[in-house]
Amino acid sequence: MIAAYGIPVTRVERSKLHDIPLENIPFGKYFTDHMLEADYENGEWKNIEIKPYQPLLLSPSVAALHYGQAIFEGIKAYKDKEGNPFIFRPVDNYKRFNLSAERMQMPTVPRELFVEGMRQLIDLDKNWIPEKDDHSLYIRPFMFSSDELIGVRPSDTYKFMIILSPTGPYYVAPMRIYVEEHYSRAAPGGIGYAKAAGNYGASMLVTAEAKKKGYDQVLWTDALEHKYVQEIGTMNVFFIIGDKAITPDLTQGTILAGVTRESAVTLLEEMGYKVEERKISIDELVEAYQAGSLNEVFGTGTAATISLIKELRYKDFVMNFDVSKWEAAPELKKRLNDIRQSKVIDKHGWMYKV
Ligand SMILES: *Cc1c(COP(=O)(O)O)cnc(C)c1O
Repeated sequence: MIAAYGIPVTRVERSKLHDIPLENIPFGKYFTDHMLEADYENGEWKNIEIKPYQPLLLSPSVAALHYGQAIFEGIKAYKDKEGNPFIFRPVDNYKRFNLSAERMQMPTVPRELFVEGMRQLIDLDKNWIPEKDDHSLYIRPFMFSSDELIGVRPSDTYKFMIILSPTGPYYVAPMRIYVEEHYSRAAPGGIGYAKAAGNYGASMLVTAEAKKKGYDQVLWTDALEHKYVQEIGTMNVFFIIGDKAITPDLTQGTILAGVTRESAVTLLEEMGYKVEERKISIDELVEAYQAGSLNEVFGTGTAATISLIKELRYKDFVMNFDVSKWEAAPELKKRLNDIRQSKVIDKHGWMYKV
């Protein structure tokens, strides 16, 4: 246990909280007073400390900047009615972080450092968790290679950090989505299932081109045939067809296994939908749309929770949806938010007490 060696804390002299109103805060722009930092050297994690949020001093030769051994996570913390802080499913993110680390030939992080370190950091900065509806504290753990050597090889040293950013409400207007069939996000055998920085760098051009055509994001299709749907931006995707909720399966390792996705599968089943995790082709979607049974399309992810999709464009074929008539996505969003804001009993054990 980390408590045994205790994380040393250096506190700020004056909290920045007085200068930042915790209302209608843009996503990812403000950071709390403190951060967690740890170094991996000679096969172990050391220099674990919580200290004032501050810039890093890095050598220009630091390996991550050149070869991209860099991974991250995204998690949210909330307060219940009594003001007690809770983190949503941090252990699931901890496990996914280490899967990403293994794929990128990086050291794994002990659970105590990731989960208990996060808990201690949030406890220290708990006044930064906004209490308003739809607000939360976004938690960003990340790791990067830190050898000062520009040779292509896995680094011997790494830095693990956690920073916190108050956020919300993350309202996203119903989106227009372009089905991408030229570029690919991830191929079987690649790093699609890892939350690795390079995946996002590779998507910027593609998203920018979709934006030029008037779309918000792309729906990625599989790299081999561009026939089967994968995911959207930083969200997994669900389709309601009749009484079924269908989402692409994770077996090929090309899709990020979202914690929100998994929560959505559980809640949709509780809502009475038959959930299918399987391959789903664009042709099947077009057919269902033409038959009038493709009722809803939405994305799931930590940042926006559930994002409604009002238009899906495949080649010259445009599928339009009247989101005001939807039932599944709004109900799912409400159920998820009620659990996260402790408005209902957390029977799944998803809320982790700080
Ligand atoms: C983070 C992410 C998701 C959503 O995962 P959550 O755990 O639900 O936040 C989905 N797809 C990609 C590519 C992502 O990076």
